[in-house]
Amino acid sequence: MVLPALLAAQTVKLTPPQLEPGSPVLLEIASSDCAAIDGTLNGVPVRFFRAANHHWYALAGIDVEAPVAPVKLALTLRLAAGGSRELTEQIPLIPANYRTATITVAPKFVAPPPEAQKRIEEERALKAKLFAEANARIGDEPAWNGDFRPPVHSQPTDSFGTRRIDKSTADPSQQISTIHKGMDFRAKSGTPVHAANAGTVILAGHLYYEGNCVIIDHGLGLYTLYMHLSKFSVHAGEQVKTGQLLGLSGATGRVTGPHLHWAVRYQDAYIDPGKLLSLTLPVHANAP
Ligand SMILES: [Zn+2]
Repeated sequence: MVLPALLAAQTVKLTPPQLEPGSPVLLEIASSDCAAIDGTLNGVPVRFFRAANHHWYALAGIDVEAPVAPVKLALTLRLAAGGSRELTEQIPLIPANYRTATITVAPKFVAPPPEAQKRIEEERALKAKLFAEANARIGDEPAWNGDFRPPVHSQPTDSFGTRRIDKSTADPSQQISTIHKGMDFRAKSGTPVHAANAGTVILAGHLYYEGNCVIIDHGLGLYTLYMHLSKFSVHAGEQVKTGQLLGLSGATGRVTGPHLHWAVRYQDAYIDPGKLLSLTLPVHANAP
């Protein structure tokens, strides 16, 4: 989709062209007279950088649970010659076609025992703190560079966005319904798991639901999460390259069997890993 800029020459190109809840959004502006671009998408900051081809790009996303309603894009183009230009657009969202499925999980994960509930609360706070700290230190350049790659060499089994109704209890009032906010890959325990792109490890530790989990900060608000691992090959604070070994897959945490759950997060929004993998992404100008 090419959005007609309201005020003049610049146009904003969106990929994918049609957005739905769970879409990543690559914004591209071919402009030679900009010194910087600031903006928001539905009130969430979008961070632009200049790529090797001198176009401006930002990679953002729309949460899987976002309402199907137009999203507002507001941009300020700061001109090299001084002054600025404001652009605003309402971008329509189309409904996503996600599935509904039933699953059965172990009772300790459906109704966690009291001693686990304290741990779950602490981990919820830890994750919120990690993401808040990472969002607060966002710089001017992404750490990701070029296309994202699948973290394992195997087929995904369950799709992103599926509404899962837990049937481990027969009582419908007790059945929990959750949205699957990642992509599951078939992977027997011990399968090597690789970084989908470059970044910094902000967590490599054991969590109640996620099991052994690695979180990578790819910069400019983008994160990938790798769950249920049996072994770690990285530690928090470590910088990783695209394709670097993060650990081995497993069946730790809330699982019905060994697999890799891979999730992609933009700021607080969970987006479809499959759609991210299908994007052709720019190489940034300051890449080594
Ligand atoms: Zn999963």
